[in-house]
Amino acid sequence: MKLQAVIFDWAGTILDHGSRAPVAALQEVFEGAGVPITVDEARLSMGIAKRDHIRAILELPRVTEAWRLGHGCMPEEADVSALYADFLPKQTECLGNFSNVIAGVPPVAEALRSRGIKIGSTTGYTRPMLEYLMERARKQSFAPDCAICPQDVPGGGRPAPWMCYLNAIRMEVSPLWSMVKIGDTPSDIEEGLNAGMWTVGVTRTGNEAGLTEAEWNTAIAPVRQVVIARAEKRLRDAGAHYLVESAGECLDLIDEINARIVSGEKP
Ligand SMILES: [Mg+2]
Repeated sequence: MKLQAVIFDWAGTILDHGSRAPVAALQEVFEGAGVPITVDEARLSMGIAKRDHIRAILELPRVTEAWRLGHGCMPEEADVSALYADFLPKQTECLGNFSNVIAGVPPVAEALRSRGIKIGSTTGYTRPMLEYLMERARKQSFAPDCAICPQDVPGGGRPAPWMCYLNAIRMEVSPLWSMVKIGDTPSDIEEGLNAGMWTVGVTRTGNEAGLTEAEWNTAIAPVRQVVIARAEKRLRDAGAHYLVESAGECLDLIDEINARIVSGEKP
């Protein structure tokens, strides 16, 4: 048995260095509802289906309390629905500004294919958002063999394993322990672990670092160290088998995991 497939996350892993698009849209929506949220509050549950993500933000004690003070009542499911309805067009509108493919990802994908490895993907975005990003990525020379969003599976998105399972089914690859999940949030790692796959956490280009490529390039060394250390801790605590700064730099790691699979090891 050898490594059969790699399942990539989208924002913060394949494209959108720093996973900035969701933060911008979420902050705008909560601000519009009179309950502004911080960047950290927006980022905490990143990666799960966007409706679930909005509910998770509302359930943060500080946000619940701010909502109660501002609205005179506790937030309810109807508020989740209203925020989500507001969120959808806002997120779609700003996706185009955050759709640059991360450096090194297209050549990595090409190298994986040359090794006979299939390329799957999962996301917390909706199908129309995913389709839009796939089109943008295609123009930048990246196209996966499969792309699944939470609405494609009855059980919904992360941390449940269903999106990973559907990738395996659509790409006709098995067993699950011959597959790798790579992503930039704790929910990505949990998804991969729940699916019985090897997991790789992305530090520098993802949600846990939160910096655009330009911000990273101009950051001074001590700032970079703090940012990477914080991202590493969050992803390691989630149970990641391996960490890498960028999916565009994961090829050696993939070869290492392949060697472990070939020797009969399981995650
Ligand atoms: Mg992501």
